[in-house]
Amino acid sequence: MERTGTILRGREFDPIEGRVVIGDDGRIEAIEETSVESDDIILPAFVNAHTHIGDSIAKEAGGGRSLEELVAPPDGLKHRLLRAASRDELVSAMARSLSFMQQAGTAACLDFREGDVEGVRMLVDAAEGLEIDALSFARGSVDAMHAGDGFGASGTNDANFDQERRATREADKPFGIHAGEVDASDINPALDLEPDFLVHMVHPEPLHLDRLADSEIPVVVCPRSNLVTDVGLSPYDELNERTTLALGTDNVMLNSPSMFREMEFLAKLSELPADEILRMATINGAEIADLEYGLVESGREARLLVLDGDSDNLAGARDPVRAVVRRAGVDDVREVVFG
Ligand SMILES: [Zn+2]
Repeated sequence: MERTGTILRGREFDPIEGRVVIGDDGRIEAIEETSVESDDIILPAFVNAHTHIGDSIAKEAGGGRSLEELVAPPDGLKHRLLRAASRDELVSAMARSLSFMQQAGTAACLDFREGDVEGVRMLVDAAEGLEIDALSFARGSVDAMHAGDGFGASGTNDANFDQERRATREADKPFGIHAGEVDASDINPALDLEPDFLVHMVHPEPLHLDRLADSEIPVVVCPRSNLVTDVGLSPYDELNERTTLALGTDNVMLNSPSMFREMEFLAKLSELPADEILRMATINGAEIADLEYGLVESGREARLLVLDGDSDNLAGARDPVRAVVRRAGVDDVREVVFG
């Protein structure tokens, strides 16, 4: 099969007019530069590098509460609502979030999954019948990490994760951890664990920035979540000068898991160029999770997002990369291709 239009090709997203040819094996076989009729814009589907879809039952609950009142275990609002819901209610709410993410152009999410092995099973059940890759960064026992795709630690102020870090490394799976969301106190201990990625990093100090530059540990930033919980905003440009950044929408209870909205906020809250933000929303998250997509490039698995470049919203845009990052939305999605 093939798709035609303006293709945001490769890691630089160089816009070219032409066609993407997808082989029977679901991989991109060729990208051909040629004159075509289509106004579509073809780009890699998104990788949402940090979600908690487990709280999909609690959308917009808890307006005005602090981060601790919202999500701190065991008695934060989120946990009380989760305890009050049945397994079926939780799984079907998660399935609705995954379905929305898929419609909104997301090929994979890296979900921090609570509830141990059973929590991993619930995400598998929620993803049944959908094409999005819902990856579990499990929490709880080491068995949960084995059942899932990696380990997702809450933060070093909650517990010591040495044993889980070792086990995750032995299992050759990625280990991620929250750090620097409320203050800087948990950043050094998180870096000491040599994680595969950090989440948030709103409050890095100069020493932490140096350590990031030395280690090049990727950071997943979640700007809208940080706005809602009022913890501040990450120093995006300083982080980006030192390491690879990826983008996540964090808790569904706080924000719609739309990468379009996350990209637009980040573009308007930072000095980061549009192509850098699009990498954060695609290939950078894919590389954290060892996924073989995230760019429109020959040989990669075809996970493509096709936008209607002639929608009322996008018609006439002068720069397709800026238009995708700063302006496009779910209504502009024509198709999400899962090779
Ligand atoms: Zn999180």
